[in-house]
Amino acid sequence: MDTSGYRSDGVSLAVAVVNAVFDPEVDDGEAIDDALRRYGFALTRVTNRDRAGLRLWASHLHEVFAAEGADDAGRILNQLLDAITAHPYITDHDGRGLHLHYAPPEASTLHRVQASTAMGLANLVCDYGISRLGVCRAAGCECVYVDVSRNAQRRFCSEACANRTNVAAFRARARAATSN
Ligand SMILES: [Zn+2]
Ligand SMILES: [Zn+2]
Repeated sequence: MDTSGYRSDGVSLAVAVVNAVFDPEVDDGEAIDDALRRYGFALTRVTNRDRAGLRLWASHLHEVFAAEGADDAGRILNQLLDAITAHPYITDHDGRGLHLHYAPPEASTLHRVQASTAMGLANLVCDYGISRLGVCRAAGCECVYVDVSRNAQRRFCSEACANRTNVAAFRARARAATSN
């Protein structure tokens, strides 16, 4: 996995944490733990205080994905960056190649996630703007995504939301056709 830009760990972790909290289909506590496990955090060290902090942090990160423009995203991110104390260092764990971590390994899980997601999104916005960040367009869905597709046409958080929306549009067209 790349460690900068829109494929960075910090950015995909941000998506995972936001969707753990915003997806009404999943239990947010379990989904937060799943996301943390997937990104290499030891669950034995995760406290309920971390989980509560992550729920709040997720709503702030959501604002970045929903920002009106890059300037707006930059303003929101500056507030988030202000709330964390970054402590960058270069690491080479698990054969991943040299990359930056932004909080020391002994920091709390909450602090490490905050530093990683804020720095990941800040780097992304500075390098690429926000055109590849988005909130799902499906009715009733607030999940977010990073568009890593070649043509950058993504509009939904998942196949399920894309299919649901297409079926609804198809039915609406069919209804309109029969009522004529
Ligand atoms: Zn790493
Ligand atoms: Zn969705």
